[in-house]
Amino acid sequence: MNIDNYRNVKRNLPLNVQLIAVSKTKSVEEIMLLYQEGQRIFGENKAQEMTAKHALLPDDIQWHFIGHLQKNKVKYIAPFVSLIHSIDSYNLLYEVNSAAQKNNRVISCLLQFHIASEDSKFGFQMEECENMLQNESLYKLKNIEIVGVMGMATLTENEEQIRHEFQTLASHFKKLKETYFFSQSSFKVISMGMTDDYHIAIKEGTTMVRIGSAIFGY
Ligand SMILES: *Cc1c(COP(=O)(O)O)cnc(C)c1O
Repeated sequence: MNIDNYRNVKRNLPLNVQLIAVSKTKSVEEIMLLYQEGQRIFGENKAQEMTAKHALLPDDIQWHFIGHLQKNKVKYIAPFVSLIHSIDSYNLLYEVNSAAQKNNRVISCLLQFHIASEDSKFGFQMEECENMLQNESLYKLKNIEIVGVMGMATLTENEEQIRHEFQTLASHFKKLKETYFFSQSSFKVISMGMTDDYHIAIKEGTTMVRIGSAIFGY
C-alpha cells in the first residue's frame, strides 16, 4: 500500500463527504498505516473478518459493515458495529434489533436499494421498502435507527448509466426523508460511490463514499 494514494483520495473529497476505507482482505498492519494518518472509519464485508480485526485494532475505529449480511452472522458484529450499510429486508432489520438489544445498544442502519441493472446485487425495490416503512411493526424496533440509504451502481464504463442510477438513489433518499423521516435529523446518509465511480457520486450528492482499491491498490 502506498500512503500517497490515500492522501490523494482524501484531498480530493469535499469536506461534507465521509470516507469509508474499505479494508476487506487487507491486513491489520495496512489498516494501522491509515489509522496513523488519521483514518478512523473502515468498511468490511465479512462478519468474521471484521470481528477478528476489531479485536486486534484500536477501540476508536468505527467499523462499517458494507457486504451482504446473513442473519446468522449478525451476532458477531452486533457488539461493536458502528453502521450497517446493507439492510435489505425487514427480517434482517428485526434480527439486528434483537442482537442490538442483547448488547444494550442502538445500531445505526442504512437501507440498501437495488439500483444496478445486474440482478446479482442485493437491495430493496422502492415499493418493497415503502411497504416496510408503512408497517407499524417496524416502529416497535427500538434498538435500530435507520439513518439513510445505500446503493451500488452497475459495473459499466457507461458513465451516463451510473449517473442515472445514483440519481435514482438520491431521489429515493429524498422521498423517504420527506415521507417517513422528516422529523428525524439523523436520517441524512447517502452511501454511494466506490473507486471507479465516486467522482460521479460526489456530483450526485453522496455523503459517504466506500473506497478500497484507490487507497490500498488493486
Ligand atoms: C469492495 C467494496 C467497495 C470498494 O470497492 P473498490 O472498487 O475497491 O473501491 C465498496 N462497497 C462495497 C459494498 C464493496 O463490497
